Amino acid sequence: MKVNKTMNIVLASNNKHKIKEFTAILKDVFPEQAIQLLCPADIGVTGEIEENGTTFAENAMIKAKACAKKNYISIADDSGLAVDALGGRPGIYSARYAGSHGDDAANNAKLLAELKDVPSDQRTAHYVCAIACVLPDGKSFTVEGRASGHIADGLYGEGGFGYDPLFIADGSPLTWAQIPEEEKNRISHRAKAARLLAKRLIEWWENK
Ligand code: IMP
Repeated sequence: MKVNKTMNIVLASNNKHKIKEFTAILKDVFPEQAIQLLCPADIGVTGEIEENGTTFAENAMIKAKACAKKNYISIADDSGLAVDALGGRPGIYSARYAGSHGDDAANNAKLLAELKDVPSDQRTAHYVCAIACVLPDGKSFTVEGRASGHIADGLYGEGGFGYDPLFIADGSPLTWAQIPEEEKNRISHRAKAARLLAKRLIEWWENK
C-alpha cells in the first residue's frame, strides 16, 4: 500500500456518532495509512441533502455524489433497521420513524409499541449499512453490510445510539447499548460495509 501518501476522504455526514465510529473503523482497516477526513461543511456543503432514494444504496449514493470533491474520495453511508415482523420497517425511514428526524427515544418507543404482541422468536431484525463511494476519477460503487439479531422486550444499556438499546445481535445476550463500543465497531453493519469498502479502496489505491 502507498502509505507515504495521505488518503483524502470526505465523509458525507455531520452526525457526530457516525464520524467517530467511521474514524475508528477507518483506523482499524487502514492502520498504517495517513487519512485526512473532512465533513461536508469543510468543503462548503451545508444544509440538508435530500435523500429521495428508495433504497439504502440509492440514498448513500445521492449523499456521496453531493459531496464529491476534486482529488478526494467521497464516501457516504445510509443505514437503518429492518424488522421482519414489520415487513422491513422502519428501513430507510429509521431516523424519522416516529415523526421527527433523529428522535431516538420516540423511535424506540414506537418500535416497542408496534412489537408489543410479537413473541420473542418472531422479533428478528437486521441492521443494514450501504456505503457509496465516488472516487477522484468520478467512478463510483456501493457496498452493503448487515448485522442480524432481534428486538428486545425493553430498553437495555446506555451506550450506542439509535435503536441500540433494543437490538440484540445473534450470538449474544446483550443489546448493542450494553456492549463496548469497540466490540460494536468490529461486528456492526457499518464495520462490515466499511471492510468491503476498504477492500475496494485498497485495490484502487494500489493500482492507480
Ligand atoms: P443513517 O441514515 O445512516 O443516518 O441512519 C438512520 C437511522 O438508522 C439512525 O438515525 C438510527 O435510528 C438508525 N441506525 C443506523 N445505524 C445504527 C446503529 O448502528 N445503531 C442504532 N441505530 C442505527
